[in-house]
Amino acid sequence: MLQICKEQKYSEMINLILFGPPGSGKGTQAAKLVERYNLLHISTGDLFRYELSHNTPLGILARSYMDKGELVPDEVTISMLRNKVEAHPEVDGYIFDGFPRTTPQAEALDALLAEREQSISRLIMLDVPEEEVVNRLLARGKDSGRADDTNAEIIRNRFGVYQKETAQVFDFYAAQGKSAKVHGVGSIEDIFASLCAEIDQVNA
Ligand code: AMP
Repeated sequence: MLQICKEQKYSEMINLILFGPPGSGKGTQAAKLVERYNLLHISTGDLFRYELSHNTPLGILARSYMDKGELVPDEVTISMLRNKVEAHPEVDGYIFDGFPRTTPQAEALDALLAEREQSISRLIMLDVPEEEVVNRLLARGKDSGRADDTNAEIIRNRFGVYQKETAQVFDFYAAQGKSAKVHGVGSIEDIFASLCAEIDQVNA
């Protein structure tokens, strides 16, 4: 059923983690959520790709991991994320996409937000099965120009890394009563409506 998201102005910051395996639609949905809720979208994958396209030392380092579908080391990723958050104190909140991907990253994020007297409002997982993800990423690889989207073996490795190292972040925030799951297969609008329904509970 298609629900219409209500326009809402929040008195408090909303800090969301958009969670799910690679190819689950986080980027697509984040772009829509940013407009709806006036949040800053921070995708660590996009930040690394920006560095990579400018051939910076950080980009060159990140490439060696990204090309294999492995995670860039926590220390490097956390410091890049911190710089981005600190550069934008004016926003109503953040959508973290592709971060945190490990428990130490989640702990670092909580600490960073706590320094600013903030916290994560909700983690929402887009639940999409492996075969769907592989098909979506291979299709995206045809025109995205992303090396890590063109090879089925690397895509499966990324999914494996997600299950082994990242899925536990869901449990980390579940222990704080903040994790939710949304069915991530269907029309973009229906999935967006499900996400909005979760977010609208935050300050309801
Ligand atoms: P994404 O665009 O989120 O699929 O990320 C692409 C690649 O960037 C990943 O496969 C990792 O190599 C790297 N990456 C992005 N975010 C992170 C993160 N939070 N921690 C470690 N590596 C990351």
